[in-house]
Amino acid sequence: MGYFRENVEQAESYEPGLQPKQTDIIKLNTNENPYPPSPRVLEAMAKIKPEQLRRYPDPVANEFRKAAAQVNGVLPENIMCCNGGDDLLTIAFRAFCDNKRPVAYPVPTYSLYPVLARLQDCRAIEVPFDGEFNLPAKLAAANATLTIVCNPNAPSASFVRIEELASLADELTGVLLIDEAYVDFAENNCISLVDNFDNVIILRSMSKGYSLAGIRFGYAIAQPELIAGLMKVKDSYNVDAVAVAAATAAIKDREYAARNIEKVKKERKRLTDKLRALCFQVPDSFANFVLADSIGYKAADIYDKLVQRGIYVRYFDVPGLDNKVRITVGTPEQNTRLLYALDRILSE
Ligand SMILES: *Cc1c(COP(=O)(O)O)cnc(C)c1O
Repeated sequence: MGYFRENVEQAESYEPGLQPKQTDIIKLNTNENPYPPSPRVLEAMAKIKPEQLRRYPDPVANEFRKAAAQVNGVLPENIMCCNGGDDLLTIAFRAFCDNKRPVAYPVPTYSLYPVLARLQDCRAIEVPFDGEFNLPAKLAAANATLTIVCNPNAPSASFVRIEELASLADELTGVLLIDEAYVDFAENNCISLVDNFDNVIILRSMSKGYSLAGIRFGYAIAQPELIAGLMKVKDSYNVDAVAVAAATAAIKDREYAARNIEKVKKERKRLTDKLRALCFQVPDSFANFVLADSIGYKAADIYDKLVQRGIYVRYFDVPGLDNKVRITVGTPEQNTRLLYALDRILSE
Protein backbone atom coordinates (compact mmCIF):
# COMPACT_ATOMS: atom_id res chain seq x y z
CA MET A 1 0.00 0.00 0.00
CA GLY A 2 2.36 2.67 1.26
CA TYR A 3 -0.19 5.48 1.07
CA PHE A 4 -0.12 6.14 4.79
CA ARG A 5 2.47 7.73 7.06
CA GLU A 6 4.59 5.04 8.66
CA ASN A 7 3.04 5.70 12.06
CA VAL A 8 -0.46 5.25 10.74
CA GLU A 9 0.55 2.09 8.89
CA GLN A 10 1.96 0.61 12.11
CA ALA A 11 -0.71 1.84 14.50
CA GLU A 12 -3.20 -0.62 15.91
CA SER A 13 -6.72 0.77 16.00
CA TYR A 14 -8.28 1.45 19.36
CA GLU A 15 -10.56 -1.47 20.07
CA PRO A 16 -13.92 -0.28 21.42
CA GLY A 17 -16.13 -2.62 23.45
CA LEU A 18 -18.63 -4.62 21.39
CA GLN A 19 -21.93 -2.93 20.57
CA PRO A 20 -24.16 -5.97 19.89
CA LYS A 21 -27.33 -5.26 17.91
CA GLN A 22 -29.68 -7.60 19.81
CA THR A 23 -31.91 -5.86 22.33
CA ASP A 24 -32.42 -8.82 24.66
CA ILE A 25 -28.85 -8.79 25.96
CA ILE A 26 -27.36 -7.33 29.14
CA LYS A 27 -24.69 -4.87 28.14
CA LEU A 28 -22.16 -4.24 30.91
CA ASN A 29 -19.06 -3.80 28.73
CA THR A 30 -18.58 -0.11 27.86
CA ASN A 31 -19.34 1.76 31.10
CA GLU A 32 -22.42 3.52 29.81
CA ASN A 33 -24.84 4.84 32.43
CA PRO A 34 -27.72 2.35 32.80
CA TYR A 35 -30.25 5.20 33.19
CA PRO A 36 -31.51 7.59 30.50
CA PRO A 37 -30.44 11.26 30.41
CA SER A 38 -32.57 14.02 31.95
CA PRO A 39 -35.91 14.63 30.17
CA ARG A 40 -34.68 18.26 29.80
CA VAL A 41 -32.15 16.97 27.25
CA LEU A 42 -34.80 15.72 24.84
CA GLU A 43 -36.87 18.86 25.40
CA ALA A 44 -33.87 21.01 24.47
CA MET A 45 -33.18 18.91 21.37
CA ALA A 46 -36.83 19.19 20.28
CA LYS A 47 -36.56 22.98 20.50
CA ILE A 48 -33.74 23.18 17.93
CA LYS A 49 -34.78 25.57 15.11
CA PRO A 50 -33.97 24.97 11.42
CA GLU A 51 -31.95 28.18 11.53
CA GLN A 52 -29.62 26.64 14.11
CA LEU A 53 -28.95 23.77 11.71
CA ARG A 54 -28.52 26.02 8.65
CA ARG A 55 -25.88 28.14 10.37
CA TYR A 56 -22.54 27.08 11.83
CA PRO A 57 -22.62 26.64 15.60
CA ASP A 58 -20.87 28.88 18.15
CA PRO A 59 -17.17 27.86 17.69
CA VAL A 60 -16.54 27.78 21.45
CA ALA A 61 -20.08 26.90 22.68
CA ASN A 62 -20.33 29.72 25.21
CA GLU A 63 -23.75 28.53 26.34
CA PHE A 64 -22.22 25.31 27.65
CA ARG A 65 -19.07 27.02 28.95
CA LYS A 66 -21.21 29.29 31.15
CA ALA A 67 -23.29 26.42 32.53
CA ALA A 68 -20.24 24.19 33.16
CA ALA A 69 -18.33 27.09 34.76
CA GLN A 70 -21.15 27.57 37.23
CA VAL A 71 -21.36 23.88 38.11
CA ASN A 72 -17.59 23.68 38.64
CA GLY A 73 -17.03 27.02 40.36
CA VAL A 74 -14.69 28.33 37.63
CA LEU A 75 -14.98 30.94 34.84
CA PRO A 76 -16.06 30.27 31.23
CA GLU A 77 -12.46 31.14 30.14
CA ASN A 78 -11.35 28.07 32.09
CA ILE A 79 -13.38 25.78 29.82
CA MET A 80 -13.00 24.37 26.32
CA CYS A 81 -15.76 22.18 24.85
CA CYS A 82 -14.92 19.01 22.94
CA ASN A 83 -16.52 16.37 20.77
CA GLY A 84 -16.35 13.87 23.62
CA GLY A 85 -13.48 13.59 26.09
CA ASP A 86 -11.60 11.60 23.45
CA ASP A 87 -11.47 14.74 21.27
CA LEU A 88 -9.61 16.52 24.08
CA LEU A 89 -7.09 13.68 24.25
CA THR A 90 -6.43 14.01 20.51
CA ILE A 91 -6.09 17.79 20.85
CA ALA A 92 -3.65 17.40 23.78
CA PHE A 93 -1.42 14.96 21.88
CA ARG A 94 -1.36 17.29 18.87
CA ALA A 95 -0.66 20.30 21.09
CA PHE A 96 2.11 18.89 23.31
CA CYS A 97 3.67 15.80 21.68
CA ASP A 98 5.92 15.00 18.73
CA ASN A 99 8.98 12.83 18.07
CA LYS A 100 11.00 14.87 20.59
CA ARG A 101 8.23 15.36 23.15
CA PRO A 102 7.12 12.13 24.83
CA VAL A 103 3.96 11.28 26.73
CA ALA A 104 4.03 9.36 30.04
CA TYR A 105 1.25 7.58 31.91
CA PRO A 106 0.89 4.82 34.48
CA VAL A 107 -0.33 1.42 33.21
CA PRO A 108 -2.62 -0.42 32.95
CA THR A 109 -4.92 2.40 31.90
CA TYR A 110 -7.16 3.66 29.08
CA SER A 111 -6.01 1.85 25.93
CA LEU A 112 -6.58 4.91 23.72
CA TYR A 113 -3.43 6.70 25.03
CA PRO A 114 -0.88 4.44 23.26
CA VAL A 115 -2.89 4.59 20.02
CA LEU A 116 -2.80 8.40 20.02
CA ALA A 117 0.92 8.38 20.89
CA ARG A 118 1.68 6.17 17.90
CA LEU A 119 -0.37 8.34 15.54
CA GLN A 120 1.39 11.48 16.81
CA ASP A 121 4.81 9.81 16.39
CA CYS A 122 5.73 10.41 20.02
CA ARG A 123 7.38 8.04 22.46
CA ALA A 124 5.06 6.65 25.15
CA ILE A 125 6.70 6.13 28.54
CA GLU A 126 4.52 3.53 30.28
CA VAL A 127 5.19 3.34 34.02
CA PRO A 128 3.60 0.35 35.81
CA PHE A 129 1.32 0.93 38.79
CA ASP A 130 2.10 -1.22 41.83
CA GLY A 131 -0.33 -3.95 42.91
CA GLU A 132 -2.49 -1.42 44.79
CA PHE A 133 -2.59 1.06 41.90
CA ASN A 134 -0.59 3.72 43.77
CA LEU A 135 0.92 6.50 41.68
CA PRO A 136 4.42 5.29 40.65
CA ALA A 137 7.30 7.61 41.66
CA LYS A 138 8.93 7.02 38.27
CA LEU A 139 6.14 8.98 36.59
CA ALA A 140 7.44 12.30 37.93
CA ALA A 141 11.02 11.21 37.19
CA ALA A 142 10.11 10.60 33.52
CA ASN A 143 9.15 14.29 33.35
CA ALA A 144 7.49 13.94 29.94
CA THR A 145 6.10 16.91 28.01
CA LEU A 146 2.63 15.45 28.57
CA THR A 147 1.79 13.26 31.56
CA ILE A 148 -1.65 11.66 31.76
CA VAL A 149 -3.22 10.23 34.89
CA CYS A 150 -6.66 8.70 34.55
CA ASN A 151 -8.42 9.27 37.91
CA PRO A 152 -10.50 7.29 38.78
CA ASN A 153 -8.42 4.96 36.62
CA ALA A 154 -9.81 2.59 34.02
CA PRO A 155 -9.95 -0.37 34.16
CA SER A 156 -8.87 -0.57 37.83
CA ALA A 157 -11.56 1.82 39.19
CA SER A 158 -8.90 2.98 41.68
CA PHE A 159 -8.46 6.56 42.90
CA VAL A 160 -5.25 8.52 43.51
CA ARG A 161 -5.49 11.14 46.26
CA ILE A 162 -5.62 14.82 45.20
CA GLU A 163 -2.52 15.71 47.27
CA GLU A 164 -0.46 13.18 45.33
CA LEU A 165 -1.56 14.66 42.01
CA ALA A 166 -0.80 18.14 43.35
CA SER A 167 2.78 17.14 44.15
CA LEU A 168 3.08 15.48 40.73
CA ALA A 169 1.89 18.69 39.03
CA ASP A 170 4.43 20.59 41.12
CA GLU A 171 7.34 18.33 40.16
CA LEU A 172 6.61 18.19 36.42
CA THR A 173 7.94 20.81 34.02
CA GLY A 174 5.40 19.69 31.39
CA VAL A 175 1.62 19.42 31.35
CA LEU A 176 -0.38 17.09 33.61
CA LEU A 177 -3.67 15.99 32.07
CA ILE A 178 -5.98 14.39 34.63
CA ASP A 179 -8.57 12.26 32.86
CA GLU A 180 -11.67 12.59 35.07
CA ALA A 181 -14.09 10.79 32.73
CA TYR A 182 -15.40 8.79 35.74
CA VAL A 183 -15.08 11.42 38.45
CA ASP A 184 -18.85 11.86 38.86
CA PHE A 185 -18.82 8.47 40.61
CA ALA A 186 -15.93 9.35 42.96
CA GLU A 187 -15.99 11.24 46.27
CA ASN A 188 -13.61 13.99 45.21
CA ASN A 189 -12.08 15.66 42.13
CA CYS A 190 -9.03 17.68 41.12
CA ILE A 191 -10.75 20.95 40.22
CA SER A 192 -8.86 22.78 43.00
CA LEU A 193 -5.55 22.08 41.20
CA VAL A 194 -6.59 24.34 38.32
CA ASP A 195 -6.32 27.36 40.60
CA ASN A 196 -2.84 26.52 41.82
CA PHE A 197 -1.11 25.02 38.78
CA ASP A 198 -0.74 26.53 35.31
CA ASN A 199 0.20 23.10 33.89
CA VAL A 200 -2.92 21.12 34.85
CA ILE A 201 -5.71 20.17 32.42
CA ILE A 202 -8.77 18.35 33.69
CA LEU A 203 -10.76 16.19 31.26
CA ARG A 204 -14.48 15.76 31.83
CA SER A 205 -16.97 13.70 29.83
CA MET A 206 -20.76 13.90 29.56
CA SER A 207 -20.86 10.22 28.47
CA LYS A 208 -20.89 8.44 31.83
CA GLY A 209 -22.20 10.60 34.70
CA TYR A 210 -24.73 12.39 32.50
CA SER A 211 -25.85 9.41 30.34
CA LEU A 212 -24.90 11.10 27.04
CA ALA A 213 -22.43 8.69 25.40
CA GLY A 214 -24.47 8.87 22.19
CA ILE A 215 -24.16 12.64 21.93
CA ARG A 216 -20.34 13.02 22.11
CA PHE A 217 -19.58 15.85 24.49
CA GLY A 218 -16.73 16.52 26.89
CA TYR A 219 -14.72 19.48 28.10
CA ALA A 220 -11.37 20.67 29.42
CA ILE A 221 -10.85 22.76 32.57
CA ALA A 222 -7.55 24.64 32.87
CA GLN A 223 -6.09 28.11 33.31
CA PRO A 224 -7.03 30.52 30.48
CA GLU A 225 -3.53 30.47 28.88
CA LEU A 226 -3.66 26.68 28.42
CA ILE A 227 -7.25 26.84 27.19
CA ALA A 228 -6.30 29.50 24.62
CA GLY A 229 -3.44 27.33 23.34
CA LEU A 230 -5.65 24.24 23.07
CA MET A 231 -8.26 26.27 21.17
CA LYS A 232 -5.67 26.84 18.40
CA VAL A 233 -5.44 23.09 17.86
CA LYS A 234 -9.11 22.10 17.90
CA ASP A 235 -11.34 21.96 14.82
CA SER A 236 -13.10 25.32 14.37
CA TYR A 237 -16.53 23.81 14.97
CA ASN A 238 -15.72 20.76 17.07
CA VAL A 239 -19.09 20.64 18.87
CA ASP A 240 -22.35 20.81 16.94
CA ALA A 241 -25.47 22.84 17.76
CA VAL A 242 -27.57 19.81 18.76
CA ALA A 243 -24.87 18.44 21.05
CA VAL A 244 -24.41 21.84 22.71
CA ALA A 245 -28.13 22.12 23.41
CA ALA A 246 -28.27 18.58 24.81
CA ALA A 247 -25.12 18.83 26.93
CA THR A 248 -26.10 22.23 28.33
CA ALA A 249 -29.53 20.95 29.36
CA ALA A 250 -27.91 17.91 30.96
CA ILE A 251 -25.32 19.77 33.02
CA LYS A 252 -27.95 22.29 34.17
CA ASP A 253 -30.07 19.42 35.49
CA ARG A 254 -27.32 18.24 37.79
CA GLU A 255 -29.78 17.04 40.41
CA TYR A 256 -31.26 14.55 37.95
CA ALA A 257 -27.78 13.20 37.13
CA ALA A 258 -26.87 13.15 40.82
CA ARG A 259 -29.85 10.89 41.61
CA ASN A 260 -28.78 8.37 38.95
CA ILE A 261 -25.19 8.52 40.11
CA GLU A 262 -26.34 7.70 43.67
CA LYS A 263 -28.31 4.72 42.35
CA VAL A 264 -25.22 3.47 40.50
CA LYS A 265 -23.04 3.90 43.60
CA LYS A 266 -25.52 1.98 45.74
CA GLU A 267 -25.55 -0.87 43.22
CA ARG A 268 -21.76 -0.74 42.95
CA LYS A 269 -21.60 -1.54 46.65
CA ARG A 270 -24.06 -4.43 46.32
CA LEU A 271 -22.33 -5.82 43.21
CA THR A 272 -18.91 -5.62 44.91
CA ASP A 273 -20.16 -7.39 48.06
CA LYS A 274 -21.88 -10.16 46.11
CA LEU A 275 -18.92 -10.71 43.79
CA ARG A 276 -16.66 -11.03 46.83
CA ALA A 277 -19.07 -13.55 48.29
CA LEU A 278 -18.74 -15.52 45.02
CA CYS A 279 -14.98 -15.55 45.71
CA PHE A 280 -13.94 -12.89 43.22
CA GLN A 281 -11.27 -10.48 44.40
CA VAL A 282 -12.70 -6.99 43.87
CA PRO A 283 -10.94 -3.80 44.95
CA ASP A 284 -13.15 -0.89 46.05
CA SER A 285 -14.38 1.01 42.99
CA PHE A 286 -14.57 4.79 42.59
CA ALA A 287 -16.14 4.56 39.11
CA ASN A 288 -19.24 3.04 37.50
CA PHE A 289 -17.58 -0.33 36.94
CA VAL A 290 -15.66 -2.91 38.96
CA LEU A 291 -12.57 -4.92 38.07
CA ALA A 292 -13.08 -8.46 39.32
CA ASP A 293 -10.26 -11.02 39.59
CA SER A 294 -11.65 -14.50 39.15
CA ILE A 295 -8.75 -16.12 41.13
CA GLY A 296 -8.94 -19.86 40.40
CA TYR A 297 -11.13 -19.57 37.32
CA LYS A 298 -10.00 -18.37 33.87
CA ALA A 299 -11.43 -14.91 33.17
CA ALA A 300 -11.49 -15.60 29.41
CA ASP A 301 -13.76 -18.62 30.07
CA ILE A 302 -16.05 -16.57 32.29
CA TYR A 303 -16.27 -13.96 29.55
CA ASP A 304 -17.22 -16.59 26.92
CA LYS A 305 -19.78 -18.26 29.17
CA LEU A 306 -21.42 -14.94 29.98
CA VAL A 307 -21.66 -14.14 26.25
CA GLN A 308 -23.43 -17.49 25.74
CA ARG A 309 -25.98 -16.25 28.27
CA GLY A 310 -26.35 -12.90 26.51
CA ILE A 311 -24.34 -10.95 29.08
CA TYR A 312 -21.48 -8.78 27.84
CA VAL A 313 -18.65 -7.65 30.11
CA ARG A 314 -15.12 -6.54 29.13
CA TYR A 315 -12.11 -8.82 29.03
CA PHE A 316 -8.61 -7.50 28.24
CA ASP A 317 -6.11 -10.08 27.02
CA VAL A 318 -3.07 -8.14 28.25
CA PRO A 319 -0.52 -8.86 31.03
CA GLY A 320 -1.82 -7.89 34.46
CA LEU A 321 -5.44 -7.91 33.34
CA ASP A 322 -5.78 -11.39 31.82
CA ASN A 323 -7.34 -12.91 34.92
CA LYS A 324 -9.86 -10.13 35.39
CA VAL A 325 -13.15 -9.01 33.93
CA ARG A 326 -14.36 -5.42 33.98
CA ILE A 327 -18.05 -5.16 34.73
CA THR A 328 -20.08 -1.98 34.28
CA VAL A 329 -22.55 -1.39 37.11
CA GLY A 330 -26.00 -1.87 35.60
CA THR A 331 -29.53 -1.53 36.93
CA PRO A 332 -30.40 -3.68 39.97
CA GLU A 333 -32.17 -6.17 37.66
CA GLN A 334 -29.19 -6.43 35.30
CA ASN A 335 -26.74 -6.90 38.15
CA THR A 336 -28.93 -9.58 39.72
CA ARG A 337 -29.05 -11.47 36.41
CA LEU A 338 -25.27 -11.16 36.05
CA LEU A 339 -24.69 -12.45 39.58
CA TYR A 340 -27.06 -15.37 39.01
CA ALA A 341 -25.22 -16.28 35.78
CA LEU A 342 -21.82 -16.08 37.50
CA ASP A 343 -23.05 -18.26 40.34
CA ARG A 344 -24.15 -20.89 37.81
CA ILE A 345 -20.93 -20.68 35.77
CA LEU A 346 -18.71 -21.07 38.84
CA SER A 347 -20.65 -24.09 40.08
CA GLU A 348 -20.66 -25.93 36.73
C1 LIG B 1 -15.13 7.34 28.44
C2 LIG B 1 -13.73 7.82 28.64
C3 LIG B 1 -13.25 9.04 28.11
C4 LIG B 1 -14.04 9.99 27.26
O1 LIG B 1 -15.10 9.45 26.62
P1 LIG B 1 -16.04 10.32 25.67
O2 LIG B 1 -17.18 9.43 25.45
O3 LIG B 1 -15.20 10.60 24.44
O4 LIG B 1 -16.38 11.58 26.40
C5 LIG B 1 -11.97 9.43 28.43
N1 LIG B 1 -11.20 8.67 29.19
C6 LIG B 1 -11.61 7.52 29.70
C7 LIG B 1 -10.70 6.74 30.58
C8 LIG B 1 -12.88 7.04 29.43
O5 LIG B 1 -13.27 5.86 29.91
